[in-house]
Amino acid sequence: MLFQSTRGSYRKLTSAEVITQGLAEDGGLFVPEGFPDLSMNDLLNIVSKPYCERAAFVMSLFLSDFSFDEIISFTREAYSTPGFDDPAIAPLYRLEKNTHLLELWHGPTSAFKDMALQMLPRLLKASVCKTNEKRDVCVLVATSGDTGKAALEGFRDVSGTKIMVFYPEEGVSDVQKFQMTSQDGSNVNVVAVKGNFDDTQTGVKAIFSDMFTRSELDKRNWLLSSANSINWGRLVPQIAYYVSAYCDLVANGEINLGDKINFCVPTGNFGNILAAYYAERMGLPIGCLICASNRNDVLAQFIKTGVYDKNRPFYTTSSPSMDILVSSNLERLLFELSGRDGACVAGYMSALSNEGVYNISDKALSELSRVFAGGMCSEEDTKRTISETFYNHNYLLDTHTAVAVKVLKDFRAETNDNTLSVVVSTASPFKFCDSVLEALGYSASDGCFELVDKLAEVTRCKIPGPLVELRDKALRFPDSVNIEGMKGAVFEFLGR
Ligand SMILES: *Cc1c(COP(=O)(O)O)cnc(C)c1O
Repeated sequence: MLFQSTRGSYRKLTSAEVITQGLAEDGGLFVPEGFPDLSMNDLLNIVSKPYCERAAFVMSLFLSDFSFDEIISFTREAYSTPGFDDPAIAPLYRLEKNTHLLELWHGPTSAFKDMALQMLPRLLKASVCKTNEKRDVCVLVATSGDTGKAALEGFRDVSGTKIMVFYPEEGVSDVQKFQMTSQDGSNVNVVAVKGNFDDTQTGVKAIFSDMFTRSELDKRNWLLSSANSINWGRLVPQIAYYVSAYCDLVANGEINLGDKINFCVPTGNFGNILAAYYAERMGLPIGCLICASNRNDVLAQFIKTGVYDKNRPFYTTSSPSMDILVSSNLERLLFELSGRDGACVAGYMSALSNEGVYNISDKALSELSRVFAGGMCSEEDTKRTISETFYNHNYLLDTHTAVAVKVLKDFRAETNDNTLSVVVSTASPFKFCDSVLEALGYSASDGCFELVDKLAEVTRCKIPGPLVELRDKALRFPDSVNIEGMKGAVFEFLGR
C-alpha cells in the first residue's frame, strides 16, 4: 500500500515515509492510493478478538511496510490497562434501543485523542528507523485542548524526540489547561498563544511551510513532524475503533453481520469522522455518517449545501474541541469526492485561503450526500441534552458528546431513519465540569478541582484516575506568546 498527496504530486510513498514526513511537499495531505477490502469474513475472524488484535488487523491493511508482529506489539503496548481504565479499551454503552455510545475516553488523558496518540509515537519512531532518518524528531502541535495533552502523554520521554504544544490562551477548559501546563517529561514544552484555535493552527502551519525555518532546523539536526490529525499515523488508528464497535454489536447480538449501522460523530477538524468514512469505503456496513457541529457549524452547512464558507463569526462554546472554522482533514474527503483529482483539491484550498470559501461540484455533492448528513446543536440544546440524558437515562455526557446525541435525535426526527446508531463519545464529562454542572442546574464558580469533586458528588459518577492524580501536580509551563512569537519559542525550546 502506497500513499500520495491530495494535491496531485504523483510521487508515491510508503506509510513509514508519510508518517515521518507528516505533510506532503506540495502542501497537501497524504492519503492511501486506494482502500483495502474489509470482507465479512475478516469481520467474523476478529469478532471474538480483543481490541488490540482487532486494531492491529485493521491497521495492518494500510501499513504494509510494517510486519503484523510489529503492529500488534505496538497495539498491545498502546491499548492496555492500567493506561486505559477499561479492559475493552473502546467499550460500547447501550443508552437505549438502537442508540449506543462508543466510549473513546478511557485512556490516560480522558479524551478520544488517546486512541490515536498512544499509537502515533510508536509508529513514528519505527518509521524514522525504517526510512533511515538520522535527525531527531521535533513534534509541533496546535491544540484546541485534547490533542495537546494526549500528544504530550504519548511522546513524553520518547528518546530521539522533543514535543512542543501550542494552545489558544482563551478557549480550553481549566482542566485541559492544567493537564497540559503540569505535564511531566524531560522532552516536553507547552506554550499558550494569544489567539483562538484557528490562529494557533495557522501559526503552526506557517512554521511547517516556512522553508527557511525548515532548513535552519535541518542544519541543527531536527526533523519537523506533526502530531495533529494531518499526520496519517494519527488517522489510521482511528479507523480501527469503528470496525471494533461494529464487531461488538455483532458479538452482542444487537445486529447481524452485514447489517448497516449509522455513526454520529461530534466533529471539529474532521479527523474522527473521516476515519469512519475510510471504514465505510473499506466495506464496513455503514448507512449514514452524521456530522455533528456545535454553533460553529461550517461543516454541517457544507454537508447540506456543498459550500464551505469560513467567513463567519467564530464562537467560543462549551465544546471547545469543536470550535474550528477550518477543518484540515476535510481536504482528504474532498480528494475522494472529486474523484481523486489533486488539481481540483488544490483549487478548493487556494480559494479557501484567498476568499475563505469554495463550492464543490454537483457530482461531488452527490457522493457527499450518499454517506454524510450534518446537523448543528446550539449551546442551550447542548445543556438540555446533558440534563435530559442524565435525569432520564442516568448517563452523564460530556459537552461534545451531547452535541452529537442531540444532532442524532434531530436527524431521526427529520428523516425517520431509525437505523441502529452509534454516537461517538469523545471525552469524559469530568474534563468539562463547569459546563456539565451548569447543565445539571448547579452553579460552577469554584476552582477546577472543587468542580471535579462536586460533579462526582452530585452525579455519583467516578472521576477518571488521571484527573484524580492531576491535583497533586505543580504548574511547569506558565508562558504565553503572541502569534509572531511562536517560531522563536520553538528555537528557544530546541536549544540547538
Ligand atoms: C478533538 C475532539 C473532537 C473533534 O474531533 P475531530 O477529529 O477534530 O473532528 C471532538 N470531541 C472531543 C472531546 C475532542 O477532543
